[in-house]
Amino acid sequence: MTEIKRRALMDKEAPNRSTAIVNGRSSNILNWDDVRFSWAYPKYKKMLGNFWTPFEINMGTDVKQFLDLTDEEKNTFKKIIGLLALLDSIQTDYAGKVADYLTDSSLNALMIILAQQEVIHNHSYSYILSSLVSKDEQDRIFDFWRTEPVLEKRNDFVLKGYKNFAENPTIDNMLDSIVYDVILEGLFFYSGFSFFYHLARNQKMVATSTMINYINRDEQLHVDLFVKIYKELLTEYPEYDTPERAERVQNIFREAAALEIEWANEVIGTKIDGLDVEDVEDYIYFYANVRCNQLGYDRPFEGYRKNPLKWIKAYEDVDLGKTDFFEQKSRQYVKVNVQDNGFDDL
Ligand code: ZN
Ligand code: ZN
Repeated sequence: MTEIKRRALMDKEAPNRSTAIVNGRSSNILNWDDVRFSWAYPKYKKMLGNFWTPFEINMGTDVKQFLDLTDEEKNTFKKIIGLLALLDSIQTDYAGKVADYLTDSSLNALMIILAQQEVIHNHSYSYILSSLVSKDEQDRIFDFWRTEPVLEKRNDFVLKGYKNFAENPTIDNMLDSIVYDVILEGLFFYSGFSFFYHLARNQKMVATSTMINYINRDEQLHVDLFVKIYKELLTEYPEYDTPERAERVQNIFREAAALEIEWANEVIGTKIDGLDVEDVEDYIYFYANVRCNQLGYDRPFEGYRKNPLKWIKAYEDVDLGKTDFFEQKSRQYVKVNVQDNGFDDL
């Protein structure tokens, strides 16, 4: 069991360019032109390029449309926002915890930006709800996680992985916690995303979906950052790159997919006209395969090689200059340089 030590605040004897991703030597001085990992600076540029805030988005039309949603749609809308608020809150803190153990000032910097983006995600949920519902109702939605049993199960699942690392920071536990991270940022948001894109596809709640789309775009970069850290850990500690680990990760993904499907049945089920929960289930299997494979392992589910909700692709790619579904004013504020948006190398 290799224990991981926290990064020192400063080390006069160590180089600015770190000697290892964890347990390495680093002065802790950040010079972007003298960093260990060649991918860190391009990632920094991409993350800054994604910058957005909810203030840019006008909720006026959504406020009117929300009243016309069916009760089921309203309910699902609120439950999903409640879930996302919880996930992003935890994520803000987890990013900081991991950052403390990376002996590389540039990766620490990327984690700080990641955490800042999670804060903006949480801001968007407050912003959406304060536009649509009363303060009491907003407070109730932000407390869903305390009382919803399906949510509790999923939260316990991710938290277990994070807590093991926080309480016992070893290489193994850091690797495992990153798997849970990739599930949180790359799978557990996705049935929620599908619901909002479904509404947008029907010209409903487009401002909310625009924010969801920005969040989706951020999360893709976050998943990729954690995947890079995971792979670097295995490069530096190849003794952990074992068939047992591969099997463990696949099993974690199987469990995660089952929990996400349970959640999808709870919030989507047969309640949402035009959105078939079986398609959402296939979408979850597909993404579980994608994420597990991104980490370098065989896909845990036979088949499921293609996105069954093809129309979602258009929403995921909305800022790549390929499509223009969101006819909002905010579209003009897109700050991503189309030539350098980085999605091609995800
Ligand atoms: Zn987030
Ligand atoms: Zn994230």
